[in-house]
Amino acid sequence: MAQVKFFSGEQVPLEMHKVRIVQKLNLPPVEHRLKAITEAGNNTFLLQNKDVFMDMLTDSGVNAMSDQQQAAMLIADDSYAGSATYTRLESKLREIFGMAYFLPAHQGRACENILSQVLVSPGSIVPMNYHFTTTKAHITLNGGVIEELVSDAGLEVVSVHPFKGNMDIARLSAVIEEHGSNKIAFVRMEAGTNLIGGQPFSLENLTNVRRVCDKHDVLLVLDASLLADNLHFIKNREESCKDLSIREITRKMADLCDIIYFSARKLGCARGGGICIRTEELYRRMRGLVPLYEGFLTYGGMSVREMEALTVGLDETMDEDVINQGPQFIGFMVDELQKRGVPVITPAGGLGCHLNVMQFLEHVPQAQYPAGALASALYIASGIRGMERGTLSEQRDPDGNEVLANMELVRLALPRRVFTLSQVKYAIDRISWLHENRHLIGGLVFTEEPEILRFFYGRLKPVSDWQQKLFEKFREDFGDSL
Ligand SMILES: *Cc1c(COP(=O)(O)O)cnc(C)c1O
Repeated sequence: MAQVKFFSGEQVPLEMHKVRIVQKLNLPPVEHRLKAITEAGNNTFLLQNKDVFMDMLTDSGVNAMSDQQQAAMLIADDSYAGSATYTRLESKLREIFGMAYFLPAHQGRACENILSQVLVSPGSIVPMNYHFTTTKAHITLNGGVIEELVSDAGLEVVSVHPFKGNMDIARLSAVIEEHGSNKIAFVRMEAGTNLIGGQPFSLENLTNVRRVCDKHDVLLVLDASLLADNLHFIKNREESCKDLSIREITRKMADLCDIIYFSARKLGCARGGGICIRTEELYRRMRGLVPLYEGFLTYGGMSVREMEALTVGLDETMDEDVINQGPQFIGFMVDELQKRGVPVITPAGGLGCHLNVMQFLEHVPQAQYPAGALASALYIASGIRGMERGTLSEQRDPDGNEVLANMELVRLALPRRVFTLSQVKYAIDRISWLHENRHLIGGLVFTEEPEILRFFYGRLKPVSDWQQKLFEKFREDFGDSL
């Protein structure tokens, strides 16, 4: 909580919740970790959970639920049609976003499937601040093309810009004018822009995007999956919003949009998804696809228990003390790493802390997957599982050449309300140690390289005996510590 000052002057985030259910963790010794990552082909996706101490792979579906959410799950009304649970969820969304219509879906990408099938056709253009993997895939599948129009600051790794997720308004106007507004399927704004480090856009920017949409009569769609973080940043970084409540800011954002969709694996700390729609005409066009792909209109592929948890979770998202936990922990981690000279993406965003590997492992060529190598090294040094976001996550071009990524990142997600501050300090400590010893870390090479989505299932080995050397240095520095 931001308002609490410590007598010592130290600035640490203070948890505004207490823990009532716990899961025991296992921290295997470094010898075991070296063996486990080798068996997993140096791919953190292939590690077994029993070998993972802090799972910082993702924030999807792994956020901690509240007691109120758990309690609500017990009163879920299980019926195919006419469920009271569904009505509660629908009314909550109407209350928060002020949109008349709602369609349920089993997760975020299912919403994207429905939206894209209805609104995108061959030759359509979808301008957006930045793409998300599944969004781009669905738009492309329906013959559309995305235009990425994030402001220049968005791709600067080190920055002090408070809203790196902002859309470049001049380029948006230019793209619409160039193609003609009838080619524009919709304009998409992604809250807490995922792939550039959980970076927010400002309310002012969204207002300007709306103006352009009005001028050309095109739809504005908000991907609200990471809305909670974005709301926190608007309240704390946008001068004109500092006296507004989270609920008021949410309504101001929603009032600017025609459609809001979300993954409830992130928003509302539950599982599921949904599309909120302003007009009956759009609602009718999309409605038919819910029974086809998701389930009946009153559950859309979600279990009623999840829907109850989501209803409560959405309400809790309107509480600044609930949504600030993630960004404050991430801010703490980013600050502490910076103090120790570790290269990270700045300013701190939502979702997680992102290590800038291009600088961390300057000596490892991109063709040897430095971000993958650092993720592997971090697991050996700490038992922490992060996610490679760099060249390994790209696909080779049709001629089989490597496509080098714009950024080489290791993403360390901080699922909401899951970790304690001492665990975060442990992560900072081990990352700093790795940074001190970065010269020991070498690259990786594929031993098994799948053609599609190679980062999920691919297996790699170190280019030299660098992992053995790293392990020996660990023993030298930490003695018999885990
Ligand atoms: C996770 C995510 C999605 C997809 O949601 P799923 O529930 O994983 O299908 C879409 N957009 C953004 C911004 C996301 O972070």
